[in-house]
Amino acid sequence: MSKIREFVFNLPLFDTHEHQAGYGQEWNKKDFTDFIGGYGWTDIAVSKGLDHDKETEFFECWQYVRTTGYGQAANFATKKLFDLDFSKENSEKITEAIKSFVKNKSSEEIYAELYKIANINTAILDCAGPNMPEADYFTQKLHPGFFKKVLRYGSNILNVSDVSTLKKFEKRFNKSFKTLCDLDSFLDEFTETAYKTGNLVGLKIAVAYARNLTFEDVCFEDANAVFDDILNEKKVDAKPLSDYLIHNIFKRAEKLNLPVQIHTGFLARCWQDVRGTNPAQLIPVFQKYKNVKFDVFHAGWPFSEILGSIGKSFPNVWLDMCWAWAMNPVQMERILDEWLSCVPCSKIFAFGADTWSPFSALGYAEQARNGIANVLEKKMRSNEYDLETAKFVAERIMNKNAEEFFNISKK
Ligand SMILES: [Zn+2]
Repeated sequence: MSKIREFVFNLPLFDTHEHQAGYGQEWNKKDFTDFIGGYGWTDIAVSKGLDHDKETEFFECWQYVRTTGYGQAANFATKKLFDLDFSKENSEKITEAIKSFVKNKSSEEIYAELYKIANINTAILDCAGPNMPEADYFTQKLHPGFFKKVLRYGSNILNVSDVSTLKKFEKRFNKSFKTLCDLDSFLDEFTETAYKTGNLVGLKIAVAYARNLTFEDVCFEDANAVFDDILNEKKVDAKPLSDYLIHNIFKRAEKLNLPVQIHTGFLARCWQDVRGTNPAQLIPVFQKYKNVKFDVFHAGWPFSEILGSIGKSFPNVWLDMCWAWAMNPVQMERILDEWLSCVPCSKIFAFGADTWSPFSALGYAEQARNGIANVLEKKMRSNEYDLETAKFVAERIMNKNAEEFFNISKK
């Protein structure tokens, strides 16, 4: 093993993006499929030309999926943890090994041990879905202390276009929104309450799943007109209201000095349209909110080259490779190689597992380390880096950049 590979495999990783299900999991019901992670199932479905939810014989599909990034990550995890290849022949052995690993351990002990093996020292957690989390989410102790939280404003409210969705939101938070001012004030107060817990390190926007990323500057009056039409049960074009609500998130981030994480690029699940997810659409936002720090997700893949040019130009934009190694490990090696040659190495976050299970997070961490080591070895082979430079870059992109960005070491 080369010196730089050894260094990368022993260096703690900062994990910028997680959906970890935490302590409430039914550990004794887990089986070998836990290593696939949430998003790998799309590859399983696509491999046989099926919809995501259709029942399939797992290993019939796996023969085609084991060659993708998800297959690579699952194999990294089972090799590291149980010294077993992820295969049909070993599937029962892997399930048994999981059961004996979790036996007589508390959830706290399972998380601590798996993240110690993965050598991940900090993780940023987003546990909201289309719904905004409830207020007690920020005080819950369902995850280890090294998990820090972001507030994701659910796409349900950010894209509200009908009165029944608004009513459901009112019911969830026991509020009444008679005007757009009421909704604005509630979102302001909710953010400040979460901030005051001391457990909030950033804001998160994942609306790319529901709309494009062109956020126009919309005045209150125009947004309010849409809000009134929704209350009056009229059919509306909801985009101006959505744009307005999203700009207010950037304003809150500025006020509270919190960074903003934004989903760009590829979307989970079948039948998705990546055309609206190009990070270039965010350029007016990056220009307008110069005091807000942006963490742009998923390497923008398949728009990673464009994202590199944005990172090179915008002091307030950081490039985040979370989930991207699992989606396309070969292109991520190419893009990290390129980004390191054009973007200052202080601006790249090299890893986020983006999964629900700590077992699959372990595989994604190994996969990222392998890719990072390959890139740094290549740069040393071509005499672009000496060992000292390669180690410096590894420390920056694997840990220190994110630690400083999220202000973790000072907490
Ligand atoms: Zn995610």
